[in-house]
This record gives sequence, C-alpha cells and structure tokens, in this order.
Amino acid sequence: MTLKEEIFSLKNEVIELRRDFHMHPELGFDLPRTSKKVSDYLKSLGLEVQEGIGKSGVVGLLEGKKDGETIMLRADMDALPIEEKNSIPYKSKIKGKMHACGHDGHTAMLLVAAKILSSHKDEINGNVKFVFEPSEEKNPGGAILMIEDGVMENPHVDRAYGLHLGNMYPAGTIGICAGNFSAEPDQFGLRIKGKGGHGGYPHLSIDPIIIASEIVLGLQTIVSREMDPLDPVVITVGKIQSGDVFNVIPEYAEITGTVRTLNRETAMVVAEKIKRVSQNIGAAFRGEVEMIDYIFGYPPVVNDPIETELIKNIAKAVIGEDNIIEITPSMVGEDMSYFLEKAPGAFYWLGSQNVEKGLDRPHHSPDFNFDEDVLTMGVEMHVRTSLCTACGKSPG
Ligand SMILES: [Zn+2]
Ligand SMILES: [Zn+2]
Repeated sequence: MTLKEEIFSLKNEVIELRRDFHMHPELGFDLPRTSKKVSDYLKSLGLEVQEGIGKSGVVGLLEGKKDGETIMLRADMDALPIEEKNSIPYKSKIKGKMHACGHDGHTAMLLVAAKILSSHKDEINGNVKFVFEPSEEKNPGGAILMIEDGVMENPHVDRAYGLHLGNMYPAGTIGICAGNFSAEPDQFGLRIKGKGGHGGYPHLSIDPIIIASEIVLGLQTIVSREMDPLDPVVITVGKIQSGDVFNVIPEYAEITGTVRTLNRETAMVVAEKIKRVSQNIGAAFRGEVEMIDYIFGYPPVVNDPIETELIKNIAKAVIGEDNIIEITPSMVGEDMSYFLEKAPGAFYWLGSQNVEKGLDRPHHSPDFNFDEDVLTMGVEMHVRTSLCTACGKSPG
C-alpha cells in the first residue's frame, strides 16, 4: 500500500472521530470528555501521553528510531457557545454549544495522523509531539499556558506546524503565505456617562445614545483618515448597550468592540487613538467617556519563510501544485502564534468549502459545516510533514 492508500483506508475512522467530537462539543478549558478521548486514543497507540498541560491540554510523544529533531503538530480541541442550526445526523447534542470553527476536524485529523505515524516509527529520525490544545477561541488561550507548562521542552521542539480548516477556500486546496498569516485581535470597552431624563425634554438631559452613535462613526475615521492604508487596521463595534424604555433618555451607554492589526506597535497606536477620539467626542456633546477595557489579544501568526516552502513542497505531493493558494494575511486571531514565537514553523488553511454540497457557511456561524472529504488530506499533510522533516529528505 502507498502512504496515500494507507491514509485513505482510515477515512471512515477520521470521519467517525470528527462526528463524535462534533456531537459532544465542550468549551474553553472545560474539556473533560474531549481530552479523555484524545488521551485514551494516543495511549492505545503506545505513545507517551501527558495530560493536564495548559489545564486540559494533552500531549503525545512519538519517539522515532534514531536521534534527530523534534517537531510539533498542533490541533485545537474547543468548541463555541453557539446553538447549532444544522440538520445533520451528527448534530451537537449539547444545547448552546457547537463545533462551529472546525476544531472537531483538527482533533480527528491529528489523532489519525498519530496512528499512521506510529506504524511508521522506523522511518522517523527524531520525535513527533502531538499537541492538543484547549481554549483556542478565548483569550488568554491554551497555547500560552501549555508553553508555561513546558510543552516546548523535554524534548525541545525544533519546529512547529499546524493547520486550520478554511471554508473560505475550496475543498482540496491549501492556503499559505510566508510572514504574517493572521492578525492580533484586541478588545476594547467604552463607558459613556450622560444625564438621564424624559424623552420629551432632551434639552434637560445629556443623551449617551447620541454620543455612542457619534463614537461608532468617529472610530472609523481612525482607520480611514489616521492610519497608513498599507498597514491594515480593522475596528469593529460588536456590541452597544443602553437604555430600557422607549421614552427615557438613559444615564449610560456602553460600547464593546475589537481591533485587528498585523503588529503590536500598530495595535498600541490604535488603542491611544480610540481613547482620544471617543473622549473628545464625549466632551463635544457634554458627556464623559471612560475606557473601561483594553485587552491586547494573541500576537499575529508569523510563518517562517523556509518552513512555508517546506509545507508548499509537501502540499504538492498531497494536493498538487495547482491547488496551493498564495494567500494574504487574514484579520482573524490564532494563538498558534505563541508556539511559532518559540520555534520556527508554519500554519496554513486546509480549504474545506464545497458549494455544491452547500458547505460554504462562514466559521462561527450556527450553520457552519465543512467538507469531510478533506480530512484525509489534512492527515496526509501532518504525516508527510513529520516524515519529511524527520528524515530531511524532500517529500515524494
Ligand atoms: Zn474560531
Ligand atoms: Zn478556529
């Protein structure tokens, strides 16, 4: 059997694993069922398994036949607080929780890759660390805690790789770029103090809803008028809260939003500007604006140029050169960045969209689902990355 055939023979297994995780989504660090299943599976392969790394993360170590480098393959395990709207036989059984980002697929692919690699131990010089991370979706995220718990050492990780299913790209493609791959996702909160009163006597009040509205518009001028257009910035207000009744001017309003940038320096500049613009708009309308929150998120994922070429070479063997997409960075956040700050490596999208099958809804939507036919491709990427980096030979 060729390697491709061997992987393909486990197609049902990887799909079954994925569906099982999909039916039993768990959130954040609270992953008792998921991490136990991962741990049991890795133990059944005879791997050395560590549990409770980064609270509920799991790490499996496969030692190759000879000495060599240690590479890390990473999958995230957590779901989202979303009520699933799909009508599928393997729909989420847990109310208000759903795998709406594809992490069920990431976990299943890495487990099956571990199974294949375990049977190819003799071809591996060095070690492969299988890293199953909790709480990717929620800052501060599992990666930083796993690093604090020593995941990059004993043995020391020389290179790190990971993938994310991507419904933005057609099934059977891989999207990758050297350098910046994702953004830093920051969070801000503003509290506007007005003066409450009767809706019919606006002149006797200070309306915080008007101030909030002006701030929402004013913040966009930071992006359009104050920042270099070639240094991307996104400011999104995702939540405004104020008032209880239709005929009362409330006392307070609150605005919460996110800022996306490609580097921390720009993020700090934008934070200052948000404060200045919102406080001055508040003053112009006789209100007071306080910045109640500013949380700097994960750093951007930065791909090493040499490792990016390596992944592209492997992708040629897995999906063919024509299916490799040279992408631009996306403004989502990903805490794979912490691992890539410690070891060179690469992170990439595995295209999972299939319009004909109706599988093209965006990540984090209640009807998100992806084309399961790509799962074996992800397994093959992991397997070939391990074999190729471990033996130092070109893929084939
Ligand atoms: Zn997500
Ligand atoms: Zn995700």
